[in-house]
Amino acid sequence: MKAVLQDLTWAELAALTVQAGEQPFRAKQLAQGLAQGKRISEIPVPAPFRAWLLERFEDEPVRIERTFTAKDGTKKFLFALADGNLVEGVLMHYKYGNTQCVSTQVGCRMGCKFCASTLGGLVRNLSAGEILGQVLAVNRAEGGGVREKRAVTNLVLMGSGEPFDNYDNVVRFLRAVTDGEGLGISARNISLSTCGLVPQMRAFAKEGIPLNLTVSLHAVTDEERVRTMPVARAYSIREILGACAEYFEKTGRRYIFEYSLIAGENADLAHADALAALLKGMPCHVNLIRLNEVKERALRAADEANAQAFLKRLTGHGISATLRRSMGADIGGACGQLRASYLRDDEPPMS
Ligand code: SAH
Repeated sequence: MKAVLQDLTWAELAALTVQAGEQPFRAKQLAQGLAQGKRISEIPVPAPFRAWLLERFEDEPVRIERTFTAKDGTKKFLFALADGNLVEGVLMHYKYGNTQCVSTQVGCRMGCKFCASTLGGLVRNLSAGEILGQVLAVNRAEGGGVREKRAVTNLVLMGSGEPFDNYDNVVRFLRAVTDGEGLGISARNISLSTCGLVPQMRAFAKEGIPLNLTVSLHAVTDEERVRTMPVARAYSIREILGACAEYFEKTGRRYIFEYSLIAGENADLAHADALAALLKGMPCHVNLIRLNEVKERALRAADEANAQAFLKRLTGHGISATLRRSMGADIGGACGQLRASYLRDDEPPMS
C-alpha cells in the first residue's frame, strides 16, 4: 500500500509541495480538493505533479464499496481501504443535522462479548487519513460542501475499533476534521466512545479537544463488568470515573455513559439503583440502549418494558438519562454487523 495523502496536515502538504519542486499555492489547491473528497487524479494540478503524487500516494484510500438504506433513512456504508480491508460507517438523520459514525480500526482487540466488531480480533489500525477519508467520502456522496452546507454535521467515533487503542492516529484525525481550513466540524459536535482505557482518557483530557467523551460502562460492578468486557480486568470502574472527573475538570464538558441493556445481565431495577448510586452527583448523562442482538453472540436484549422501567428508575433517582432508539436495525446498524455479514457473504436484510 502507498502512503495516504489525507494523513498530512496543511503544513505537511505545503512541505511536500516544496519537496516536489512545485509552487506553494499548489498545496492549497491540493488541500481544497482533498477537503471536497476528491481523488488525487481529480484535483486540477499540473499533470507531472499529479503523476509524482500518484507514484507515492493512494489515489482513493477510502472508497464507498456499498451503501445500504434503512426504512428510517439511516444509511450504512461499507468502505474499502486500499489494501482491500473493509470498515463500515453509518449516517443518521436527526432534526439538528446528520451524524456520521466512523470506524477507527479494522476489527478490535477489546473482546466485548456483545460486540460484532471484535469477533475476528484486531486486523489493523486505521491511519488518520483513513478515518478522515470516511467522512470526506460520505460528505461528498451526500452532496455536502466544505464548512458551508456540510452533509455531515456531527460525528461519533463509535464504529468498529477502540479509538483510544489507536490514540495517535485518532488525535491526528480529530485535529484535521475540526480544522477550520478543512471540514471544520466543531469538537462539540463530536462524540468519542471508549471502553475505558484509563491512561489514554487521562492523556486525552490534556489535548485540548473539548468533545463529548463517552464511556461504555454496561455494568455497575467490576465483577459483573468483566463478564461482558474483558478490559474490566485492566481498569476498574473507580479508575474510569476518576478519569472522567479529570476530563470534566480540564474541559468543562460533562461526559456520557453508554449502558446497553442485556436481559438477565445488567437490566434489573437493582442495577438501575446501583448505577444511580455510582453516578450520583457526577456531571454526566446516561445513554441507555437495548442490546442490538448479534447473530454470533448468545446475549439477548432486555425487552422494551424492561428498558422503560430501567429508565424511569434511573431518572427517578435524579440521574440524567435517555433511552436511545436503535436506528437502522434492518440494515445491521450495530457495530461490526455489516462487515461481519459481508465477510460471511450473506446480505443484510434490505428495505
Ligand atoms: N470501542 C469503543 C467504541 C465502540 S462504540 C467503545 O467500546 O466504546 C459503540 C458502542 O456500542 C459502545 O458503547 C459499545 O459497547 C456498544 N455496543 C457494541 N455492540 C453492541 C450491541 N450489540 N448492542 C448494543 N450496544 C453495543
